[in-house]
Amino acid sequence: MFMTANLSFPCPSFDSPEQALKHFFGYDQFRSGQQQVIESVLQNQDSLVIMPTGGGKSLCYQLPALLKPGVTIVVSPLIALMQDQVQALQDNGIGATFLNSTISGIEVRQRANQILSGQIKLLYVAPERLLTEPFLDFLQRVQIEIGIASIAIDEAHCVSEWGHDFRPEYRQLRQLRQHHPDVPFLALTATATQRVQQDIIQQLELRQPLIHVSSFNRQNLYYEVRFKQKQAYRDLLHLIRKTPGSGIVYCLSRKKVDEITARLQQDGIAALPYHAGLTDQARAEYQTRFIRDDVRVMVATIAFGMGINKPDVRFVIHYDLPRTLESYYQESGRAGRDGEPARCTLFFSYGDIKTIDFLIAQKVDPQTGEPLEAEQQIARQQLRQVIDYAEGLECRRTIQLGYFGERFEGNCGNCDNCLHPRPLQDWTIEAQKFLSCVARCQERFGMAYIIDVLRGSKDKRILGNRHDQLSTYGIGKDHTAEEWRTLGRSLLHQGLLSETSDGYAVLKLNPQSWEVLRKQRTVYLSVPNRPGRETPSSSQTRADTELLFDQLRRLRKQIADEQGVPPYVVFADASLRLMAQLRPQTIEDFANISGVGSHKLARYGPPFVAAIQKFCQTQPTQHQPRTNES
Ligand code: ADP
Ligand code: ZN
Repeated sequence: MFMTANLSFPCPSFDSPEQALKHFFGYDQFRSGQQQVIESVLQNQDSLVIMPTGGGKSLCYQLPALLKPGVTIVVSPLIALMQDQVQALQDNGIGATFLNSTISGIEVRQRANQILSGQIKLLYVAPERLLTEPFLDFLQRVQIEIGIASIAIDEAHCVSEWGHDFRPEYRQLRQLRQHHPDVPFLALTATATQRVQQDIIQQLELRQPLIHVSSFNRQNLYYEVRFKQKQAYRDLLHLIRKTPGSGIVYCLSRKKVDEITARLQQDGIAALPYHAGLTDQARAEYQTRFIRDDVRVMVATIAFGMGINKPDVRFVIHYDLPRTLESYYQESGRAGRDGEPARCTLFFSYGDIKTIDFLIAQKVDPQTGEPLEAEQQIARQQLRQVIDYAEGLECRRTIQLGYFGERFEGNCGNCDNCLHPRPLQDWTIEAQKFLSCVARCQERFGMAYIIDVLRGSKDKRILGNRHDQLSTYGIGKDHTAEEWRTLGRSLLHQGLLSETSDGYAVLKLNPQSWEVLRKQRTVYLSVPNRPGRETPSSSQTRADTELLFDQLRRLRKQIADEQGVPPYVVFADASLRLMAQLRPQTIEDFANISGVGSHKLARYGPPFVAAIQKFCQTQPTQHQPRTNES
């Protein structure tokens, strides 16, 4: 339903931007960069805002829109997202609407009238509609009768061919600048590269813009890598069971998506699949069910996630290796957009590397069938970076942010390597055994063969080559084949051993290998973390709080369903958590909760306060332990 709240403008005056922030959105503080950008927009300066996903870009144009006379135009390419944002604004009592290809002619006229009568502060438009003749004329009329406060271009990297999502219609947005030379432009994106930034400034003809680049560090995300072992599925299930809230599990293939979904369903987890093999209708339906919290886990190929706006995703698990570190950052970054703690887990196995390597080798010119060597080489290098991340012993953030050219001074306190530094073991003697076995086999074999020799295999090939006569035959029985593999891979990654890239991966010694053999170098190996190991929970939340949180979640879901909106539109997880912790039992106390603005207070205050009161009454003493917890 189309709800228009009446917000009388000119708006009540505020002493400070913070006061307006609390009034409209219920937040107490600006996030990094927001205030600076907002002030620049209020002074009619152009701005370029680069913030990671979840950084709070929307507020940078939404708050000025409410403080300035006239309408703010928001250009946004993703229809689903547009709808969500408008819904969320309306739920805060803010006059907002959108125009795109899904709206009928009559509805368009109605909305146009609302705009011209001054009821609308934010108008979201898809670029293809924006640039039609009638719409440009309409905007001229808006400009004259109501005024245009500013023009915000969301996903601004779409103007750049160097971005990951180039859209030609974005190129034409500079026409807007020509039609409305005095209206300030605000371009926003989560893409970090310099090249794209320059393109945005040029293409949109931004005039001496304020450029704000936020750190790409997402401190609320816990990053971890787990070795994928035989019982990987059990680890996955365990992880999902112990992490409350919604989550996404990414897999490489459709087949794997279907398989994991079926197994999770069998194990009692509400999960749905998402991949390109499903009909558009099924995908849209599953996505909605996920956003509305009707289903807890989405198992998906990377087709899922672009343009979905669910701020309360609590975990993202990569069950297979991602292809690049950048895609890993973006995909895992779909967790915790609301700023609340969330977990990003990468399952890593050497088997996956082989699968991806194989896929890379398939990259051929569709016309000639020749291998695309340059592309393959880039893909291999990107894969290597992912492996380095997975095998890395340093702070995961240091590695990720370093990839974006951002220096981060280690020890973030919120990744597996910082919280549980992996013990380094001296494996020099084993490395010498391994390398000397490579030498004795005359550098003509791959890793599996060398390990077989070390472990004294009776394989026909080995006997045929009379390698059972070598002094290194059978000297490695004290370690499993998997341990030798870990060592072999690590030697390769540390550059202490080489392999041919002709598809046979024959092991070759290099000068560093000889340093090891000559005892001029020590070799350290990190011992993998035990799968299933717990991370310390940041706070020992009491069972009571969890119980109340759960009840408030249910109330939120009920209200959301009645209104046909996603639960997070009613309140974010963070607000519910504060309610469960602070237990405000009066409307005045409830108003102090972050995320409770004036509109939400009037609308939702009474039922939530009532629920909290009821809860507190049934709790004879606050700290009484519950007996019926599982
Ligand atoms: P982006 O567009 O940069 O991905 P959003 O604008 O969707 O991020 O904001 C992400 C989440 O953070 C939203 O739920 C939003 O309401 C919340 N948020 C934004 N600014 C603040 C703030 N100052 N305080 C608390 N929450 C905020
Ligand atoms: Zn760290």
